[in-house]
Amino acid sequence: MTEARDHMWDPDIQTLPRADLLALQQKRLDEVVARTWERPVPFFARKLEAGGFDPGDGVTLAELGRVPVTVKDELRTSEAAAPPFGDYRGARLRDCVRVGATGGTSGVPTFVLSTKRDIANEQTAAARMFWRQGLRPGMVLANAHPLGVYGGGMSLTTAMESFGCLVLAVGELESDTAVERAIDLWRRCRPMAYQIFPATYVKVFEAAVRMGIDPVADLNLHPPMEHPDAAERTITAGSEGFAFLGSACPEGGGAHAAEDFAIVEAVDTAGRAVPDGEVGELVVTTIDRDNFLIRYNVEDYVVVNPDPCACGETSRRVKWQGRKKDVVSVGGTAILPSQVARVIFGGEAFRTPTMEYQIVRRGLEMEALELRVEYDAAAFGDPSKAARGLESAIGDDLGVPARVELVARGALPRPPYKPERVVDES
Ligand SMILES: [Zn+2]
Repeated sequence: MTEARDHMWDPDIQTLPRADLLALQQKRLDEVVARTWERPVPFFARKLEAGGFDPGDGVTLAELGRVPVTVKDELRTSEAAAPPFGDYRGARLRDCVRVGATGGTSGVPTFVLSTKRDIANEQTAAARMFWRQGLRPGMVLANAHPLGVYGGGMSLTTAMESFGCLVLAVGELESDTAVERAIDLWRRCRPMAYQIFPATYVKVFEAAVRMGIDPVADLNLHPPMEHPDAAERTITAGSEGFAFLGSACPEGGGAHAAEDFAIVEAVDTAGRAVPDGEVGELVVTTIDRDNFLIRYNVEDYVVVNPDPCACGETSRRVKWQGRKKDVVSVGGTAILPSQVARVIFGGEAFRTPTMEYQIVRRGLEMEALELRVEYDAAAFGDPSKAARGLESAIGDDLGVPARVELVARGALPRPPYKPERVVDES
């Protein structure tokens, strides 16, 4: 076995020649399409017909782009019209063993149903991610993602267990009491690695300081990378699509997509593929799943990187750019939080783990980019000079005027889960 293969959890599939991988995708797509017609799955049968396919027709990988994309709102509409689970489910309800609900940050949550096979596939993709991240069976891990129906914490915990780790899952750290209890548990057990969001780390860091505990020395809790480059190290199609869609190898260049479980596209607003290397909306067709989705538009911006990777994996890499709902338009230029974060992280005073920031959006079109950024004047000096410096860095890098308001450390919300980087104000 070569050294390259030792870097992988499942080297046979992760190094499958492209031609074989595409043949596997076609075989699994055939099964999805056959099931859509035969079961039937009315929602996706209508989509196939809208793409010009007759009942019973197969769909080749080259023809897949004819099928109209599906967005989350259509899943909501389906669930409302055929409650509670809609008419888009590939699996029979009696074969499903887990129900979740999406976060609902952009509307009514939808239900996520999983069969044992669906869960097993997520766990296989998660195991590849853990292995790429350097985790190994036998480790003690901590997980501070929300447990229960509304968060990804349970699927993460069961994936870590199936990988072979001992998991300390504390759930969402909403209250100060919950944070302090988690810190006490971690201090006693000293996990080898943590799954924790950067914003949660800030809460833990601040509570630990209050308790006289050093997060690194006493808890083995290192600040998670919040630099925008870190966001390119994983890719997800959401809990409703495929949560552990991909993760990066040590070479970087985007997250290796689990293309044996999902056909990945980047498309324009009309649903047509954009050239490799250009920004498009992430569309996935999940295959080898009972509850599949055909051409589901995740409404995230990505870049597909088709370059062969030096690690030996043959799947394409996908670089996450941001959520469509987080776009801010300044003087006709579309700006994503990740672009803003790159500029903010260029200044030492604004780097994690100490500071939070927000982009303030006022309507569809703004004259200047408005930011609120936490700043420690005692440590870094004259705030007005720092604000002007950040404004000019944004002008240089993004080509738009900026108005930066520096606020005291701790003044911005400390979200228990995913940070809201864009806030809408009138
Ligand atoms: Zn690689």
